[in-house]
Amino acid sequence: MARQYIVAGNWKMNGRLDMAQQLTASIVAAAPDSAKVILCVPYPYLTTVRDLCAKTSVALGAQNISEQKDGAFTGEVSGEMLRDCGVEYVLVGHSERRNVYGESDELVAEKFARATDAGLTPILCLGETLEERESDKTDLVVSRQLQAVVSRVGVGALATAVIAYEPVWAIGTGLTASPEQAQAVHAFIRAQLAQIDASIAEQATILYGGSVKADNAAALFAGPDIDGGLIGGASLDADSFLAICQATTKK
Ligand code: PEP
Repeated sequence: MARQYIVAGNWKMNGRLDMAQQLTASIVAAAPDSAKVILCVPYPYLTTVRDLCAKTSVALGAQNISEQKDGAFTGEVSGEMLRDCGVEYVLVGHSERRNVYGESDELVAEKFARATDAGLTPILCLGETLEERESDKTDLVVSRQLQAVVSRVGVGALATAVIAYEPVWAIGTGLTASPEQAQAVHAFIRAQLAQIDASIAEQATILYGGSVKADNAAALFAGPDIDGGLIGGASLDADSFLAICQATTKK
């Protein structure tokens, strides 16, 4: 089965209600059909964005999920609650969760499992820090992060999930991996999956994230193993985000 481009916006903790409404309205009005467009928005705006996306091709995503199912976990939001709000996709293991909130590979794997249990599609973020890249540990780190999820849920769960390679040094810094650097890690991730199951490796959608902008998106998306992007800063501006979406073509 041919893979489809995906462009997912991660608004992080930005904006207010009126911005969420205007941004969503502009995106749904002009989202191209060459990519699946997903908006990963702050919890309080999920249902507003859901309503604006109803009967459009734009899908709703959340930015985090609890590793717990239910119960006395004050402040947490479960997969089933996200489903109730119309969420289809959820980020797990974003580098800000790993590095600012100390989420371990095992916790990320547990969150991945909760997402699939609830019928959500996880967007699993992987990526190395600058120090790790400079000490040639990129492959080691990315394969360790991936393996933690494979060990927890099995490789089959990755056939329908989305993987996002996001070098930490490129997130929100204006530094972007070159198309060659990004393609090399994407090919490595696909090869890691292929060692376990070639057909799952072929089906897996692998996005690139890290300072993707309208002017570098097409070059990045041209990589044979790059199936679109996870976009932070540039997803807060409708014109920039739509230009990135338009940098995809039919796969
Ligand atoms: C992100 O937050 O996932 C991201 C890629 O951010 P930015 O595009 O701003 O680097």
